[in-house]
Amino acid sequence: MAKAKRGRALWRLPARGRGTCPICQATRIKLLYPLVKSDGTKLTVCKRCSKKAV
Ligand SMILES: [Zn+2]
Repeated sequence: MAKAKRGRALWRLPARGRGTCPICQATRIKLLYPLVKSDGTKLTVCKRCSKKAV
């Protein structure tokens, strides 16, 4: 799928792909990056947090 994280494709997601990042607590940020923590918990985080090492 082309540009799944941009444009109108986001509007189909719950809350249009936006929310509060569970890691950096940034509000109304795009949460597009699935992250599995070391304990197996699945989170959806923002772009910034997706690049951090867990
Ligand atoms: Zn974040």
